[in-house]
Amino acid sequence: MSDKNLTMDKIVNLCKGRGFVFPGSDIYGGFANTWDFGPVGVELKNNIKRAWWKRFVQESPNTYGVDAAILMNPTVWKASGHVDSFSDPKMDCKSCKQRFRADNMIEDHSKGTVVPDTMTMEEMEAYVAEHKLKCPKCGNHDWTPIRQFKLMFETSRGTVEGEKDTVYLRPETCQGEYVNFLNVQRTARAKVPFAIAQVGKSFRNEITPGNFLFRTIEFEQMELQMFCKEDTSMDIYNDYKAQALKFVNDLGLSEDHLRFHDHDKLAHYAKAACDIQYLFPIGWQELNGIHHRGTWDLSRHQEFSGKNMQYLDPITNEKYTPNVIEYSIGADRLTLATLCEAYNEETLENGETRVVLKFHPFIAPYKVAILPLQKNLSEKANEVYRMLAKHYMCDYDEAGSIGKRYRRQDEIGTPYCVTIDFDTLEDGSVTVRDRDTMEQVRIKIEDLKAYLDERICF
Ligand code: ATP
Repeated sequence: MSDKNLTMDKIVNLCKGRGFVFPGSDIYGGFANTWDFGPVGVELKNNIKRAWWKRFVQESPNTYGVDAAILMNPTVWKASGHVDSFSDPKMDCKSCKQRFRADNMIEDHSKGTVVPDTMTMEEMEAYVAEHKLKCPKCGNHDWTPIRQFKLMFETSRGTVEGEKDTVYLRPETCQGEYVNFLNVQRTARAKVPFAIAQVGKSFRNEITPGNFLFRTIEFEQMELQMFCKEDTSMDIYNDYKAQALKFVNDLGLSEDHLRFHDHDKLAHYAKAACDIQYLFPIGWQELNGIHHRGTWDLSRHQEFSGKNMQYLDPITNEKYTPNVIEYSIGADRLTLATLCEAYNEETLENGETRVVLKFHPFIAPYKVAILPLQKNLSEKANEVYRMLAKHYMCDYDEAGSIGKRYRRQDEIGTPYCVTIDFDTLEDGSVTVRDRDTMEQVRIKIEDLKAYLDERICF
């Protein structure tokens, strides 16, 4: 984020205008806290998910992927504690009827000096009254009492005519990993420490303002659960902290915009917990979580399912319940962070402003745009397009001046533009223009793929 004045509105407008993200159910006036990814947005998010999977599954020999069902046996959510206690403290402004999270408002008001997680509802109400907290929308101080709001979406499944059972849209993906601990361990012949990873949708009934992709009611999580022995668990926890930071840094988020935030208050079963925060245009906010969850999850599933979730060490014959280190990051929240980080406004020599999204080439929606200088070069240009499209997402554009076409590609973050000119027909070479430096080099068509491969890899 080189632009210090970057606002969320600027990002939202660019996303709408260029096809990254549209409001959900747009023609019906939208639907609060839902967004649809457009043609370039879906590429960006898919590439982010691919980068995560490559780093944490493909390149991690002791990590195994799954894709578990979204609808799970409802007892899973009793075992996890969500049925009883997955809720947020909310209060309504009596003047404008807007609903807010009391804990977030207290944290913001106290500039982080007060930790609402450690407060009772009465203490939160007392803080709101004592500090005369004002409604962020209408400015009045006229609140309802604070109440807990359930965050799980419920739906029902009819198994017998007339009868319905409540089932839940999963609010987190990790339960799909815990319930498959025995299956994966057996079929992959996995030895502790090993991890189970998945990328998939989660749903939360978030009714407070979402700040674009930051908080939505339907979002994707990229999560892994590392099962390990207690004596190595703290080292593994610290290692994931470092790996998680390196991942987002390698993806292009600058160190200055990232920081660790260790939790003061821990769940009763947890041994440590930490977020990585990113400096969004709305301030420092959680990007991902890393949690040391002890033996809580497997023990609870053992208790509720009646299945033995212990691990038998094949060498020492020791039997124990593994500890869990969880690393969880939202794909949509990370997509938003990469958009904010990549956004640059530059003043060119001719005084014009260029908006350019400087994504890491691996996550850029299109890797390359093919631009014939004249329409009658389109046959050759199409040949180059077809050759490269076998390997990467490519754009093809022959409309408008070359300057305008470069600008369009800059605004969607295409790292390389390949122009086809009349010399191409003679010497089989093309001009490759670099998005960030705007420098141009002449390259033989047969060398193009190797040239791009070297620069796009993650
Ligand atoms: P928050 O405090 O922001 O509500 P959380 O602590 O409840 O987040 P976790 O349950 O640890 O979040 O989820 C892991 C990650 O999933 C978060 O760090 C975030 O990246 C993402 N995430 C969680 N809730 C949402 C949401 N409503 N919209 C988008 N992403 C989300």
